Amino acid sequence: MAFKIIVCAKQVPDTNEIKIDPVKKTLIREGVPSILNHDDANALEEALKIKDKHPDTHITVVTMGPPQAKDMLIECLAMGADEAVLASDRALGGSDTWATSNALAAAIGKIGAFDLIFAGRQAIDGDTAQVGPQIAEKLDLPQVTYVQEFEIADDLKSITVKRALEDGYEVIKVKTPCMLTAIKELNEPRYMTVGGIYDACAKEIAVWGAADLGVDTEKAVGLDASPTKVYRSFTPAPKGKGEMLEGDTEKEVVDKLLVGLKTKHVI
Ligand SMILES: Cc1cc2nc3c(=O)[nH]c(=O)nc-3n(C[C@H](O)[C@H](O)[C@H](O)COP(=O)(O)OP(=O)(O)OC[C@H]3O[C@@H](n4cnc5c(N)ncnc54)[C@H](O)[C@@H]3O)c2cc1C
Repeated sequence: MAFKIIVCAKQVPDTNEIKIDPVKKTLIREGVPSILNHDDANALEEALKIKDKHPDTHITVVTMGPPQAKDMLIECLAMGADEAVLASDRALGGSDTWATSNALAAAIGKIGAFDLIFAGRQAIDGDTAQVGPQIAEKLDLPQVTYVQEFEIADDLKSITVKRALEDGYEVIKVKTPCMLTAIKELNEPRYMTVGGIYDACAKEIAVWGAADLGVDTEKAVGLDASPTKVYRSFTPAPKGKGEMLEGDTEKEVVDKLLVGLKTKHVI
């Protein structure tokens, strides 16, 4: 039987280009280039490496997002994924991480049986690193986050991973099915091939709305159902020019710093 992998991938704005509307205080998404979230490319690459070794592997990429997220899914198909699903509906808009993971867990439930779910550690726009673990909790799956090295047993029934910690790492063996979240150290994502791009354009991408997912649009997804409320978004004011303090000894520099801080009534 085919080994089935689901990869959660998010289309994100290119971070160097992020701007906040000074009046509405929301993210300006119009006209901003979008990319496949970096950690998700690592998750997909690791899934593709399993497929390289076990050609019977089937990879489905799932995303929740606006219609233009299809472009990112085409990129994933061109890299080598077999199938792609877009969960897209106005009712899903404004979802926080809890509501996003409700929608994605419902989409995964509709995709059907799986052996492994691979997500990225975090999305470069929301940056919370909550969605992967929340999906695992909602699907009652064992999970390992911050995966930096990955090895799957020949019988595909267990996976040994090296999990990054701030000051070291853990080696964990986990049985499939499970949820893993990838970090950039895991691998170098491959480029799309010309043949892959050609094949990807011919593939149909399933688009599922809230009704297809069977989610409660009042209690489970969307802005109103989201427990997180954003009170204010703003671009931090640019900092003033820094001042370098110099002196012959550390004490001299510290004394200058103290005088400066006292003059400005900081201390
Ligand atoms: C009140 C509120 C309103 C919001 N409104 C909007 C809005 O209108 N539009 C908007 O774009 N964002 C909105 N957001 C942000 C949105 O909640 C997050 O972008 C989203 O829930 C994912 O969280 P994250 O980006 O922190 O992902 P993380 O938890 O950092 O992502 C971890 C991993 O989960 C997976 N993942 C995360 N999101 C998705 C996804 N959508 N599809 C597939 N896989 C995914 C990826 O593998 C990713 O690497 C809103 C947030 C709040 C609190």
